[in-house]
Amino acid sequence: ADSRILGAIKASQMQKALTNDPKPLLPKEKLVFGHTFSDHMVLIPWTAKNGWGKPQLKPYGPLQLDPSCSVFHYAFECFEGLKAYRDSQGNIRLFRPDKNMERMNNSAERLYLPQFDGKEMIECIKELLRVDKRWVPEGKGYSLYLRPTMIATENTLGVHRANSALLYVIASPCGPYFPTGFKAIGLYCDESNVRAWPGGVGNKKLGANYAPSVGPQVTAEKKGYQQVLWTIGEDRELMEVGTMNLFVYWRNENGELELVTPPLDGTILPGVTRDSILDLTRSWGEFKISERKINMKQVAKASDEGRLLEVFGAGTACVVTPVRRIHFQGKDYDVPLDPANPDSQAGPVTKRIYDTLFGIQYGDVPSEWSIVV
Ligand code: PMP
Repeated sequence: ADSRILGAIKASQMQKALTNDPKPLLPKEKLVFGHTFSDHMVLIPWTAKNGWGKPQLKPYGPLQLDPSCSVFHYAFECFEGLKAYRDSQGNIRLFRPDKNMERMNNSAERLYLPQFDGKEMIECIKELLRVDKRWVPEGKGYSLYLRPTMIATENTLGVHRANSALLYVIASPCGPYFPTGFKAIGLYCDESNVRAWPGGVGNKKLGANYAPSVGPQVTAEKKGYQQVLWTIGEDRELMEVGTMNLFVYWRNENGELELVTPPLDGTILPGVTRDSILDLTRSWGEFKISERKINMKQVAKASDEGRLLEVFGAGTACVVTPVRRIHFQGKDYDVPLDPANPDSQAGPVTKRIYDTLFGIQYGDVPSEWSIVV
């Protein structure tokens, strides 16, 4: 056994100290993503010497960390993002949380941070959800966003493997991503900044991947586009859209209907939504599904030739976000939305994927992906 997993996380050993001062809930219309937090959090300390300590559930509040703490200097941090949904019976549900735990372990491993048992961690998260149940807002599109985070907590400026770490989970109620129906976005194909590269860490959910993405995002917005289209190389291989995975639905050069997403070659974050969309559309068996490289030149050509059908981003926050135009080398390439319905902001394939996954998340479409807490 790896010495880094000595002393496993045991949800049954959780120590609970509940708040005496529960906060008032914000009115649902006032919810802004990531601004308010529930009453409690879960903390699990780790040391190289003793492994994982007992999980602690306690009131949400500041951490006390030394200014020398290695997380502040060398970005020893990885995180996850998943949601808890309230179904029509009032049950709280999670969507494929095992995938988030698996991805978090992969991220932690890359930072030489400790591994943990995802099943036990999910039990800890469930306990937090039971205690903070009132924080999971009612209504379709509403959810409680969960943010598992792991940091190295050693007080040292030395760049070396962590001897102590903290795994914690906080929860933030959020409103619908599309409060008034889909809103298709414009993408700015950035040729100056690269999000991830071969041999890099783009496939890990490290905080270090996100801070450098903010500047390019601001630039794209200033130019009038909502998100950055991340690309790499001479032909501008497509990678991701902002913090979403990218899908292109088109009639390819061979005349086949095909849904394409870039392959998990180490530069792409393995999205839970991405994986679910691949599974779902493969089960439909209605068009070709490909995880393969696709570049901006091919997409521009397809747009010019009327073969580009739909483009969308995919992630936990939105499920899918339809794209209506892409700026590339001085020109805007239009992406059709729904030719049959000029008022629609999403193509039929995009919308069908959205409806199905949304239905599963809220327990309206039966699926083993949806777990009742
Ligand atoms: N790509 C990036 C860079 C992301 O940050 C996210 C959000 N975690 C995604 C894709 C989508 O992943 P998921 O479907 O697991 O939310």
